[in-house]
Amino acid sequence: METTPKRNLFGHTADELTELLTGDGQAPFRGRQLARWIYHQRVTDFTEMTNIPSPLRGRLAGKYVILRTSPAQILHSADGTKKMSFMLDDGIVESVLMFDADRRTLCLSSQIGCALGCAFCATGTMGFTRNLTAGEMMGQVLAADDFLGTGAEVTNLVFMGMGEPLLNYDNVVTVIRMLCSELGPSISQRKMTVSTVGLPEQICKLAQSGLKAGLAISLFSADEQTRRKFIPVEAKHPLGEIKKAALVYTEKTGRRVTFEITLIAEVNDSIEHAQKLVTFIHGIPCKINLIRFHPHPGTRLRRPTEERILAFRDYLYPRAPAVTIRKSFGEDIAAACGQLAAAAHC
Ligand code: SF4
Repeated sequence: METTPKRNLFGHTADELTELLTGDGQAPFRGRQLARWIYHQRVTDFTEMTNIPSPLRGRLAGKYVILRTSPAQILHSADGTKKMSFMLDDGIVESVLMFDADRRTLCLSSQIGCALGCAFCATGTMGFTRNLTAGEMMGQVLAADDFLGTGAEVTNLVFMGMGEPLLNYDNVVTVIRMLCSELGPSISQRKMTVSTVGLPEQICKLAQSGLKAGLAISLFSADEQTRRKFIPVEAKHPLGEIKKAALVYTEKTGRRVTFEITLIAEVNDSIEHAQKLVTFIHGIPCKINLIRFHPHPGTRLRRPTEERILAFRDYLYPRAPAVTIRKSFGEDIAAACGQLAAAAHC
């Protein structure tokens, strides 16, 4: 006799779990209890859910499972960075765990592949397979927490791994709500950053969503021709639109936007580019994050010399309100920005 496969509850929101349980004649608070067990207590066995009556636990175990993805491989860098690879049925995604002072930051993926094809990004060459579900993104966070152990969980999150998070808007917003909920890992939205290549409509939508996550825009260059050459979507969403959207975001959320510039030798690392950048950001409450390009197989692009990077920074500051050079993490395990098989907005 054929048996119906059990439905996986992992990835369902508290509201969805409540609907499911009330449909089964249970009180609505049982849905919240179940959510707390799954996402806050990280329990995958119904028998451990001690505040749920035993007959109900038995019924749940008969119909459902709680399955989350665990990494197939974890690579360890000499600087402490970890790269986790998750094998899904239709592809691989990676996330990177970085340590800096008391911060434990996870860079997670939001799609398998990416449709946008930016020239400096390995993911851009892979094509697009599909959006990750909220559960698959939550799974990356809980896997990192499992690895770190109780009391040392992930403190900061950046949606900067594989994929364009704002093209997976609904699932990304859902998982942000789950991640900051007291029924889940309770990570403050202030410690989460969504990194986009710069999609004005979605930026405005996120600004109106009521969320307060940080926004990073991978600007690359404030010179339209250069940007268009490396970020094809620039043809559809020119710099002027991105500037307007960035202003909407800062007004609605009260947060400064971060502009990320991946510096590539003889492409966007000249003082002329820095000057254009200063003009572009005028009037926008923002920070600038300079990222050293990390070469990956198959690219001829090169990282600028440190001297050139410092000269770029020194031109920008104090003309720009805040300028940082991002630390490189995990270069020896190909986990740094731009090195992942599945990398990233950086
Ligand atoms: S930089 Fe971001 S948007 Fe561009 S191809 Fe890579 S993952 Fe996609």
